[in-house]
Amino acid sequence: MSDDEKLDKTSIIPSDTFKRKMEEAKTNPASIILLMGPINLVGKQWKITSNHQIGRLIDLEICVDDRSMSRRHAEVRLVNGKVFIEDLGSSNGTEVAGNKLKPGEAVELRDNDQIKLGNVIFKYLAEGNIEAVTNTEALNRALTDPLTKINNRLAFLEKVEQIFRKAIQTNVNLSLIVFDLDKFKSINDNYGHQAGDFVLKTLSAVVQSKLRPSDFFSRYGGEEFTILVSGGDLKVAMDLAERLRSAIEDHDFIYQGTRLPVTISAGVACIDSSMTKWEELFEKADQASYKSKQDGRNRVSTLD
Ligand code: GH3
Ligand code: MG
Ligand code: MG
Repeated sequence: MSDDEKLDKTSIIPSDTFKRKMEEAKTNPASIILLMGPINLVGKQWKITSNHQIGRLIDLEICVDDRSMSRRHAEVRLVNGKVFIEDLGSSNGTEVAGNKLKPGEAVELRDNDQIKLGNVIFKYLAEGNIEAVTNTEALNRALTDPLTKINNRLAFLEKVEQIFRKAIQTNVNLSLIVFDLDKFKSINDNYGHQAGDFVLKTLSAVVQSKLRPSDFFSRYGGEEFTILVSGGDLKVAMDLAERLRSAIEDHDFIYQGTRLPVTISAGVACIDSSMTKWEELFEKADQASYKSKQDGRNRVSTLD
């Protein structure tokens, strides 16, 4: 056998990754995945662990903001390990595997059933379906920045949309921190692009280690980052931004024996009742970060 043939020989060694994924799949509860509907929800997966209502209402666990769906459209129920669905008197009805549900009828879902609520299509995955694992992996990959391994811009855009709407409707605080590295171009110019990449990676890890699980951290662009502080008022977010600024200034970014000078300029804004779109909150935080640049960098500002 030639070397090429040896390399190309089909492996009969069981793959650990394969075994691990199959094991992981077995313990996964039943779930539904959105196949077709609002673009920012495509691929989103909800675990069925009790009874869950599906509809347009913001306080529902499975909230899908699509006009073809009723406010409370249908309910999935977990009964003795079996999953059922019932239409809740919706305007556009519910179909399971092509069959329209009658009022008051609860239908048991079978693995891979397609469920149509108005113009929104879900797929039902029974407990143990491997697709629940692979779908989660694919979604995570789409929403993660490959360099820093934190949320990417797409992830931010999806989150901010949803969290802003919820904050306005439920009167809960929401603050946004926007920050940008200072004179980052000169790090690339003086130490090379690899050094710049090292800074972005290290900085992301330093910041992430100082956040709470409810803070949503993303790489918005090249050397621009955002943090959504759920439930946080202006003071909470200002304090957090200042802690991060100081931690980064103090951190030893050592690249090939040299300590690189790394600082950030941040802007902070808090939601207020005059705001109707998340872009207004973003604009305010972004303007505040420009102010930090203008005032000499390595600082935190707010316009309030
Ligand atoms: P300022 O303090 O005003 O923000 O100055 P700056 O040099 O940080 O800003 P500028 O916008 O002039 O430069 C940003 C630089 O960030 C330019 C770009 O090459 C670099 N950059 C963006 N993304 C990456 C990346 O993924 N890796 C590296 N190494 N550099 C990046
Ligand atoms: Mg920039
Ligand atoms: Mg910069």
